[in-house]
Amino acid sequence: MNGLQRLGYGRIWLLLAVTLNACGGPQWPAYEFLQGSTMGTYYRVQYAASDSCRPSQFVLEQQLIAFNQSLSTYIEDSELSLLNEVPAQQTRTMSERLSVALTAALELWRDTDGAFDVTVGPLVNIWGFGPDKAVQWPPTERSQRVAAASVGMQHIELLPNRQIRKHLATTYIDLSSIAKGQAVDEVSQIMASLGCEHFLVDIGGEVRASGLNSERRPWRVGIEVPRSGQQGSVQRVLSVTDNSVATSGDYRNFRVADGLRVDHVIDPRIGAPASNNVVSVTVVHPSAMWADAYATALMVLGVEQGLAYAKQHGLAALILTKSADAKVAERYTSAMQTYLLSNAE
Ligand code: FAD
Repeated sequence: MNGLQRLGYGRIWLLLAVTLNACGGPQWPAYEFLQGSTMGTYYRVQYAASDSCRPSQFVLEQQLIAFNQSLSTYIEDSELSLLNEVPAQQTRTMSERLSVALTAALELWRDTDGAFDVTVGPLVNIWGFGPDKAVQWPPTERSQRVAAASVGMQHIELLPNRQIRKHLATTYIDLSSIAKGQAVDEVSQIMASLGCEHFLVDIGGEVRASGLNSERRPWRVGIEVPRSGQQGSVQRVLSVTDNSVATSGDYRNFRVADGLRVDHVIDPRIGAPASNNVVSVTVVHPSAMWADAYATALMVLGVEQGLAYAKQHGLAALILTKSADAKVAERYTSAMQTYLLSNAE
């Protein structure tokens, strides 16, 4: 089963529906799409094709390959994997791409008092959500303590001229919470540089919507009902243009054994998987990278702290929670109201 089959169908059916409903008038261009696999998931780019907008799949895929070669922990010789192996106190020069991701991650780590932390990798791995699948599950208390000891962005130092120094050899950076969004931004920049005006870039559910859809309306982006096994059922539809949407959820990537259910979002402050009643967070933001990172951060913060943070920072955020009787409730900021379509629309 490839990444597209594993993760993609639920999210793209709605976008497909938008395409199939196209009723472009004489001057309105036809919409085409390119799609494939990347980062263990799918990518899909829809665009209004014209003489000035003819993106090549080869060019987009080369960009995604280069992106993975920088920021993937699933590639042994990627820039990030090699950095994770660097001994303590040695200084390395980072690519612009890695520097952008880590600078943003450091800012959000500080801003959330450590709830968002990309050095969470050792904990992600021992709980079986990283590239290292050979884990004892559930992990022993000792292995949890050992992994937690390496976590914390205070153990890395970002220096001028894109230099980085790790204070611990065991620091392991995992950019899964921010990099898909960053890749969406990069692909969107390519689309714009090729002269494309109306397009939607979607990588594993992180989306950038530019211009209008084939119906000459703002793009419709569906937010799934946050229940495993209900992929494709839509909880809410957002109407967005020239903006990005990212969703983080606990209903796709989780493990259950011996009555224990944990999901892939880790609370670094307690050194364990987050255990609150938030099941999904969606953020709309001009930058897909920031939308992606904020969505994970709010998952960790939980509903009250997360909403307070979102309001304080003027974020458009929708937080879905689940009660003991499995009912899903919605909480959102006033900034999110602008994008939410009523069910009748
Ligand atoms: P998000 O909510 O966006 O992110 C959650 C992820 O962030 C967790 O899985 C964890 O890794 C990390 N995280 C957990 N807690 C925190 C926290 N408190 N602070 C910060 N980060 C946290 N998967 C594969 O199976 N095969 C691949 O080849 C592969 N390649 C990849 C290449 C790249 C460049 C990237 C970025 C990811 C890749 N992945 C791969 C990972 C896969 O796509 C992830 O499941 C995905 O990035 C997580 O996205 P999400 O939207 O599910 O969750």
